[in-house]
Amino acid sequence: MTTPEPPCKQGHNHAWYAPKSVVGGDGIGGNGEHVVEGRIVSLRVCIRCGRYMESSGMWPGHEDYVDYREPDDKSLAWLRLNEPRQ
Ligand SMILES: [Zn+2]
Repeated sequence: MTTPEPPCKQGHNHAWYAPKSVVGGDGIGGNGEHVVEGRIVSLRVCIRCGRYMESSGMWPGHEDYVDYREPDDKSLAWLRLNEPRQ
């Protein structure tokens, strides 16, 4: 199952990052990866709107599942520290 991508801020495309302070991770590929039941789950956060994208698959870069989550306090705090210059 794959969830359709929600819109970013008006006029922008999402810009996904994986800051360890927000998404954590096991350090597999530096993109917030966790291993869950033999699958690699990657968590990223958009620097513009603070939404999360969670994707998973058997190998990094071969995700067959994508889900999105609304911004939370942690991602919004990170957003305020990293306002894109535009
Ligand atoms: Zn976004």
